[in-house]
Amino acid sequence: MRVCSALSVTMHCLPIALVLLGTVSLFTSCYGAPHSSTVRMVTTEKTQTKPNSTMVTPGANGTMKPTKYGDEDLGEPILNERRMRLSEEKTVDKKANVTAKKKVKVVKTVKVLKKPKTESPKAKGKPEEQCPPLGLESMRISDYQLRTSSIKRFGLGSHRGRLNIQSGIYDEDFYDGGWCAGEANKKQWFEVDARRLTRFTGVITQGKNSIWTDDWVTSYKVQVSNDTHTWKTCKNGTEDAIFNANKDPETPVLNLLPKPMVGRYIRINPQTWFENGTICLRAEILGCSLPDPNTVFLWEHEPQPTDKLEFKHHNYKEMRKLMKRVNEECPEITRVYSIGKSYNGLKMYVMEISDNPGEHELGEPEFRYVAGMHGNEVVGRELMLNLMEYFCLEYKKGNPRIVRLVTETRIHLLPSMNPDGYEQAYKLGSELSGWAIGRYTYQGIDLNHNFADLNTPLWEAEDNEQVPHKFPNHYIPIPEYYTLPNATVAPETRAVIDWMQKIPFVLSANMHGGELVVSYPYDMTRSYWLAKELTPTPDDSMFRWLATVYATTHRIMAEDNHRICHNENFIRHGNIINGADWHTVAGSMNDFSYLHTNCFEVTVELSCDKFPHEVELPTEWENNKESLLVYMEQVHRGIKGVVRDKDTEKGIPEAIIAVDGLNHDIRTAIDGDYWRLLNPGEYEVTAKAEGYHPSTKTCRVSYEDRPTICDFYISKTPKQRLRELLAKGGKLPKELMLRLRQIRNRKLKLSSPK
Ligand SMILES: [Zn+2]
Repeated sequence: MRVCSALSVTMHCLPIALVLLGTVSLFTSCYGAPHSSTVRMVTTEKTQTKPNSTMVTPGANGTMKPTKYGDEDLGEPILNERRMRLSEEKTVDKKANVTAKKKVKVVKTVKVLKKPKTESPKAKGKPEEQCPPLGLESMRISDYQLRTSSIKRFGLGSHRGRLNIQSGIYDEDFYDGGWCAGEANKKQWFEVDARRLTRFTGVITQGKNSIWTDDWVTSYKVQVSNDTHTWKTCKNGTEDAIFNANKDPETPVLNLLPKPMVGRYIRINPQTWFENGTICLRAEILGCSLPDPNTVFLWEHEPQPTDKLEFKHHNYKEMRKLMKRVNEECPEITRVYSIGKSYNGLKMYVMEISDNPGEHELGEPEFRYVAGMHGNEVVGRELMLNLMEYFCLEYKKGNPRIVRLVTETRIHLLPSMNPDGYEQAYKLGSELSGWAIGRYTYQGIDLNHNFADLNTPLWEAEDNEQVPHKFPNHYIPIPEYYTLPNATVAPETRAVIDWMQKIPFVLSANMHGGELVVSYPYDMTRSYWLAKELTPTPDDSMFRWLATVYATTHRIMAEDNHRICHNENFIRHGNIINGADWHTVAGSMNDFSYLHTNCFEVTVELSCDKFPHEVELPTEWENNKESLLVYMEQVHRGIKGVVRDKDTEKGIPEAIIAVDGLNHDIRTAIDGDYWRLLNPGEYEVTAKAEGYHPSTKTCRVSYEDRPTICDFYISKTPKQRLRELLAKGGKLPKELMLRLRQIRNRKLKLSSPK
């Protein structure tokens, strides 16, 4: 999920925050954003800012002499565990230096974890208590399964009492961040109908998510029932058990029941609440459904995945192990390499899948998926691991669709762009990491705001009518300030930029979580003072198609009436949105990708829950499997070909491919091959290169899912031939000399003052 930029904070949230909340941190409440608890600090002194000479070179994208990424030896014993432990200690230290309020939060989180009663249900030695969440957060529990004693208003109804649900931030927003009771007394309750007999083992609560007021419950009782008439209160010995709950609105607090209780319904019955607030909460319930052969409720109607994949959360070590295993099982089509290291020294591994791993093949497009740039949005990471396993298995089985993808495409999967952030969220686990912990890098950088802003220089040049004659409409160079030693550029960002420049990627998607929508560039508003504004690229129709392809094949997004995640309804727009029209982000990866390289990239918000419990992972795979494949296949849409020298037939790198009517060119790769994503239609396409006569032809793109081949043979200008001959010290052929003399004479005549 994206966060509103500093700009929109200023525009919308800051004044409110200042007026109503006094000292509340600037970034605590804004649109899906870090509602407290995570530190958003931007340090410059520790940023590794070795200026990278390749970064300023425009036109190096994928046309550089391929400095090949070496294969990774995944077997080596790595000290990363120790390194992570060290970094954890450092995190606490470092965070202690930040604002007082945040410091308190971090300490609280740690305290909560230390209490034995708040131990993760996954803790060892308690196998009988390993019950997963019923799914209030993941939406497995429907609105109809939630009831309450009273509500303050509909926007704060029972359906809002879900862990991590987010409020709107605008005045007109209807939905708010939690359930709030209509009255403030000890008779209020929040009820969940599990729809079948369940062994309840624990309750997790949070306060209300809001930029307006502070409300949370400080203690509660728990009751269980089979019929909603007779209720049994959870006891501690002979007394009613009273559970200590929240101390702030955001940190989730888990209470395990002293003894599991069996029933169909469970109630949270608040006893005390924050003195300046009222009864508001968000919750998740832990429980295991009991075997019930007579169940009439088809609540588990979701098909179970048939693919035998490793459905679990993989930390860094486990991720590396899985990648190693896939590589060993399918060495002929896979290769693991690393594109760099995180701030804490964790490697950023990529799985390459291709019939010729390690090599760019002439005419074969390169595709990438990037996941985990926000470390706590973990679905993408697991989907990438599932996907590599799936490719290996299905390729061996001879699944024709997979074989075709592998032979015709070079696929790169980066499961974890922010490995440090992930480890932080992973340690707290899916239920207790809250909404923001692990989003940022160890340095506190939001990677999706950390790429060079190329939109501003392009739009300025456009406003001055310099495009494309004085300023390019593509391959925008990285501004100098971004390459200076004191620029705040994360090592993770630097590694990805390097990667983008080395490989001629054609298509990509950037996997996020916390919403259900696909957003496409631009991500930044053209009117810089606006927090949101429709800002299409010249390739808008193609981007809309790409986003639609993913959204319409995603199993939940494709449902007409699926439950909205938080406060925004993307359904009526087909679950796609222009990034800038959602909320502006400057320095996003998508915009950078489009403006600095040939690659088209969209953002996929994969699920409402950023860090779903392990039990949800098979469902997430089923929800996304078809979308992941069909989106990849789009890399074969449009036209492709090779631009060659007419005489030598050698491919020409850096040749420009311009499509009439589209103010965004792309360039050929090192061997002269190019790919231009285009919707079906007829296009006038021009190939031009320095020292060559341009050549134009009509290329027709059909509705079929294979590209139209449009090759170009272009010939050198006489001037260029002369230059090359002279450079070689050779003699000019007579014919060429005559031609040059003619041209020179004509020019002289034209320019003579007479
Ligand atoms: Zn995100």
